[in-house]
Amino acid sequence: MEKLKLENYKMKKGVLVAPFSELPGLRLGNWTYQRLPSFFWFALILKEYDHSDGLEICGKIIKYIHDTHKLEFPLFSEILKLDETQQVDIFVYVTTLVEPKVLYPLTLIFSYSKYPFFAKHFYDDDLNIDRKKVLMELIKDTYDNQSELSSDLRFLIIWSAVVANKVKFMRGLSITEALTNYPYTPHSDDNMRLWRPSVRATELGLQDIIRYDSDFNMFFWKEMSEMTQCELFVFHYEEKENFDEEKLYVDKCKKIAEYYNGLFQNFHPLDSKMEVLISIYGYSYKRMLELVEHNLFNQISGRSIVRNIIENYIMIKYLVLEETNHPNIWKEFVSYGLGQLKLILLKYKDKSRNIPVDSHFNVDYIESILDSETDEKFLNLDTRYFDKKNIREKAISVDEKDLFDFYYDYDSQYEHGLWGAIRESISVSCNTATHQYHHTIDYENKQNLSSVWNDCKKVMDKTIIYLNSIYPLPEKFI
Ligand SMILES: [Zn+2]
Repeated sequence: MEKLKLENYKMKKGVLVAPFSELPGLRLGNWTYQRLPSFFWFALILKEYDHSDGLEICGKIIKYIHDTHKLEFPLFSEILKLDETQQVDIFVYVTTLVEPKVLYPLTLIFSYSKYPFFAKHFYDDDLNIDRKKVLMELIKDTYDNQSELSSDLRFLIIWSAVVANKVKFMRGLSITEALTNYPYTPHSDDNMRLWRPSVRATELGLQDIIRYDSDFNMFFWKEMSEMTQCELFVFHYEEKENFDEEKLYVDKCKKIAEYYNGLFQNFHPLDSKMEVLISIYGYSYKRMLELVEHNLFNQISGRSIVRNIIENYIMIKYLVLEETNHPNIWKEFVSYGLGQLKLILLKYKDKSRNIPVDSHFNVDYIESILDSETDEKFLNLDTRYFDKKNIREKAISVDEKDLFDFYYDYDSQYEHGLWGAIRESISVSCNTATHQYHHTIDYENKQNLSSVWNDCKKVMDKTIIYLNSIYPLPEKFI
């Protein structure tokens, strides 16, 4: 299969469209669920007698069923609905071409109690064949609608339509050449690389003229899936047991915070630029501390922490960059944050509303924080550009677009609970073909994620190096 490359996608009104999903009327997953069950019995014959002989035998059966019993298509679902005489006649004919043991595995699903005429001809107590194993192997071989076996089955669907006079192919057309030679050419032949896709495309076009029985399909898949237990494919990354290196790093970050704090307190207590920058650094440090102290490296929360540290770093650079356009930027940044907090407080103070009790928004504490700030910090400053300019634009303006593209955007999936994050973290694949490779929820928390440590440290390093260019640190920290 051709690898999916980003260039193959087209941008349609801001939506990435995969090349195949643009084809009209293409229903993905339809082959396995909808069409395979009715033709699955032919898969057993093809598997036993191989490509050419198998197709020859199935071709004869198709013609016999059509000519003798007036069934348009040899769907297994429809054969089982015929009366006893007809069913017996068909199955007797099949046994003249196919050894009963070949279809024997199907008696596991179509058992004597429900399908006596079929079972009578193909069930044999003396056979030493693991029916379940055969069926499961075969589902694996036909699950992919482009496999060789699936292509053969799809050829038989076309052949059924030809026999039923539902479709005609003109002489001289390339598809006619493909269909004529297909059964007699081994799959290893180079021509088959062209013919198999032609067969599949033609079969796709026939979907709507064949009436597949959805009750039958449901029965088929229910029986198939109940034969086996889930085989869950849990992703588990090895987690570290020793965190000496991480603790050492966090300790260095702490000493830097301590150093900057001393500098601010003792020499620049009124410097709002310094207050803002070292406080943002302190916030990053504290989030990193949580990461290490609570061993969140391989957890969802770890991604949230990296994302925040990236955002803090970008904000630090952005504020310094914008300082030339907005000399008041440090006060504006503080005012913006406090203003946002105050807006929420007002909602909690609004007596006309149903105020939540036991909320993690501590009204009294937050009110005291806001009261303790000087009025100057609530000046009606122009703070619109903080939220108006989103993080992506900020990242570009400070020359850190890679951080956004490679990390922030990905971690945001987790922060917003988007499907990519859900799929990667809590959705576990079942590796059983008869279960149609479904997913289950990782409620037992067996799955974890790759560690965020390296990225986290990298961004923290960048933060420290940048701050060092503004407030030089003693040699020992660098
Ligand atoms: Zn399963």
